[in-house]
Amino acid sequence: MGKTQKQSNRVRENKAREEDSRYYLNGFVVCCCVLWCFSFLVLFVVVFLLLVCLVLLGLCCWDVLVFVGGVVFVFGCSLVWLGGGVVLFWFRGVLRRVCWVREREGVPEELRGWAWDRFPVRPRGFFGLGVSEVAYRYCATFRDLWLRRRLGVRPVVRRGSPIWWGRVMHCLLDAAFRDVRSVLEKGVEHWRAYEILSGLAWRRAGEAGAPGCGDAAGFYRSIVLMLLGSSLASSCMHGGEGVGWLPPPTEYRVDGSPLGLSSQLRVDALGESGVVVEFKLGMPNGDGRHRVGLAGYALALEAELEIPVDYGLIVYFSSVSSRPRIKVEPVFIHAGLRREFLENRDEAIDVLMQPRPPGKPPRGCSKDCPYYEQCMQV
Ligand code: SF4
Repeated sequence: MGKTQKQSNRVRENKAREEDSRYYLNGFVVCCCVLWCFSFLVLFVVVFLLLVCLVLLGLCCWDVLVFVGGVVFVFGCSLVWLGGGVVLFWFRGVLRRVCWVREREGVPEELRGWAWDRFPVRPRGFFGLGVSEVAYRYCATFRDLWLRRRLGVRPVVRRGSPIWWGRVMHCLLDAAFRDVRSVLEKGVEHWRAYEILSGLAWRRAGEAGAPGCGDAAGFYRSIVLMLLGSSLASSCMHGGEGVGWLPPPTEYRVDGSPLGLSSQLRVDALGESGVVVEFKLGMPNGDGRHRVGLAGYALALEAELEIPVDYGLIVYFSSVSSRPRIKVEPVFIHAGLRREFLENRDEAIDVLMQPRPPGKPPRGCSKDCPYYEQCMQV
């Protein structure tokens, strides 16, 4: 069974598992809401019956009953109001989730990248946005985007910050994939290829912006070794004279201009059968923004190639070091993700059309933000 086939099966299995758990969650929430309403009704009836009994037994007069009944009624109304709000909130969540699950059954035509000539894929403005600018929302209010695009503020990336390490990692991965492809295409033996490329490690670290960094050189060597190992395993298993498996093309250029995105978008890697691959530094933390980014690339690829792009992979590297831990997250690029990307894009365009910058995020700013100094002065 081919690699892509296995990945597709895994994606399908994960999707089915996720949907099952969501249906159970929805059922649980509905049961909770019904139980809450039922228990309030029971409480109300019990209090009322108790009061009537007291009157009948002569332990209480009608005035007291009316007074206590009024208090219970007002209290009950407040509870119903409060509870109704909670129930509505839950039901809204349930309905949204149910709609979302239904949407995931397939990708409607109007959410394919090739539908760029009509809403909702058609953009309100053309600003040549990057997918990361739109999807990752480093600044929740898009203030960074406004500063960069409207005032021409240049980001200051501090050495050693997460953004700096992310850039170094991308450069090293690109170099390793390209180098391995290039030597294998020339027919160099795998062990000899490793000797040649291992000697380039320090140079590649310098080119990635981390001169003299042992971790960066070690990371490059490890990736090269992994890729050569996969290639050697494939050529040993399948035999023949061919070069066997080759690393997929990296930094794949795609024109996202029909969607209001940059004409020079770069997909980290394009796997077999058009699977979009994104590399990320760190481990998966349940943050859906990376998935939304994949949807952006999928839409751009669909607009350019006019073929459906439904699957993606997010490859997480725990660190830039000689022994990174790697986790691969398969993603089905469903309608919900596409819609979220398009909503983010429209919001970013609206922000850029405003004459004044948007406010700062209510949750405060990290000093690692590359616009921190300039942003505080605006
Ligand atoms: S400093 Fe805060 S408000 Fe300014 S761009 Fe960065 S995250 Fe946004």
